[in-house]
Amino acid sequence: MTVLRTRRRVLKEIAATAGVVAASSGLGSKALAASRRDADVIVVGAGLAGLNTALTLQDAGLSVLLLEGSNRVGGRVMTLDNVPGRPEAGGTEFGAGYARCLSMIDRLGGFPMQKWLDTVELPFALNFDGTLMPMSAWPDSPLNKMVGAERTAGGSLMGPFALSMMYAPRPSPLNGLDSWLLPEATALDISYADYLKSKGASEAALRFISNDVPTADLDRFSALWQHRLFRFQEFMGGIDGLNRIATGASRFPEGIAKLLKREIAFNTQVTAIRADERGVEVRTKGGRTYRAGRVTVAVPLPLLRQIAIEPALPPLQAAAVQEIPYDNMVNVFFAVKEPYWKVDGLPGSMWTNQPMGRMYHFKSDQGEYIWMNVRNPLSPWIKMSDADVMQDATRTLNAARPSTIGRVEAIAVVNWSNYPWTRGHNVYRLPGQIARYGNIVAEPHGRIHFAGDHTAVTMMGMEGAMESGERAAVEILQLA
Ligand SMILES: Cc1cc2nc3c(=O)[nH]c(=O)nc-3n(C[C@H](O)[C@H](O)[C@H](O)COP(=O)(O)OP(=O)(O)OC[C@H]3O[C@@H](n4cnc5c(N)ncnc54)[C@H](O)[C@@H]3O)c2cc1C
Repeated sequence: MTVLRTRRRVLKEIAATAGVVAASSGLGSKALAASRRDADVIVVGAGLAGLNTALTLQDAGLSVLLLEGSNRVGGRVMTLDNVPGRPEAGGTEFGAGYARCLSMIDRLGGFPMQKWLDTVELPFALNFDGTLMPMSAWPDSPLNKMVGAERTAGGSLMGPFALSMMYAPRPSPLNGLDSWLLPEATALDISYADYLKSKGASEAALRFISNDVPTADLDRFSALWQHRLFRFQEFMGGIDGLNRIATGASRFPEGIAKLLKREIAFNTQVTAIRADERGVEVRTKGGRTYRAGRVTVAVPLPLLRQIAIEPALPPLQAAAVQEIPYDNMVNVFFAVKEPYWKVDGLPGSMWTNQPMGRMYHFKSDQGEYIWMNVRNPLSPWIKMSDADVMQDATRTLNAARPSTIGRVEAIAVVNWSNYPWTRGHNVYRLPGQIARYGNIVAEPHGRIHFAGDHTAVTMMGMEGAMESGERAAVEILQLA
């Protein structure tokens, strides 16, 4: 609570100083009265990052216009309110250390929270190379070709993730949450495969772990990025500290949006931004032009690539925007018609080393559903229609888990790889990309600023998005 109160005080202080900054910088309303500006600041993207940028600037006394390409707020936070069980298709779990999110939830008057572990059925069942077993049977399975402690680590609650953790040194070589950006950390910016081999991981362990990195390919994943993830999870207090909003994660961005005085312009896709020493011009697909003193672009990199920026970004920053990848994810949700786990006696959640990935069995006051999440970049589902994915996913699940035949029904698909406003699930880094690009994607370009979880320094996920929004807003208040 102390942390939360302190945060609120800091925000109040920012708000208080911002009035002074705004008045003396030309961003204040008097200076703008003479110009044809639509707002002091335009924010592009009404995900958590854009919403927090807009609210922080508004709190500081600036006028803000928020332009959102889709017809809703929240971006990658998406509760499927009209689907039975009210599944979460995007950001769901709030870590114990999510100070900004929790402080904002407090400001919104609070939401009923549920412990994540109380809503998900764990441990997993395991389907390895087509053989079905409880995860607890894995250490002694003849299919387990791993060696020594690897054999048991993979059979624990979180399967390959725990195995991965086994090779992460304790304490983490990353002292602080931002240490991944230190020059000395770049020694770890090698492929995760090379890192694991250097620690003595067996070939079988590499194969097992490869199912748990977003690329499904350890050669194409930075070990330093993985260490950043570990460090972040360590700070979050592990899965014990995870909570979800019982009424749906989307209530969170919707709540922030309600605090904004000015209506958000929905269905307004930004296609071009031009900036000069006097201000910025933001053009939309519909042909409208908006003007402001500054702009914060809070959209994921695949979408930023589609926005024409003038003057062009410096070459290294432009290369980072083009090259830093996002992983794939196709979510398939199933309703449970009959408890298939009672038929085969295995846990309802299941982890596989096959393209169907993992499935979680969620059960809460909101209802019950199965969430299958496929991250494999080679999955044919990425390019298939939702109806075809549902059919194929049902067939695949039935084959991997025969007790599900006739007992589950596919009810929804959310294909983040094809979602027009994200074109991917989460940002990650290829080996060498942290050394090469650092956090250059966060650097302001004249009057153009950037936010979004991909620009966060210490936090990740929803908290990273909030952090980035706050940073971008404070940056404007200081630079303007
Ligand atoms: C399946 C899934 C599960 C996740 N689980 C968790 C979790 O449990 N915990 C956690 O902390 N995080 C989780 N995350 C991550 C979290 O959801 C994101 O980190 C966070 O929501 C990102 O917020 P953002 O504002 O940076 O980006 P986004 O949410 O992607 O918002 C970007 C916004 O910009 C808009 N936009 C894009 N292009 C344009 C344009 N040209 N013009 C105008 N608007 C545009 C989009 O429509 C969108 O509203 C998960 C994500 C996914 C997909």
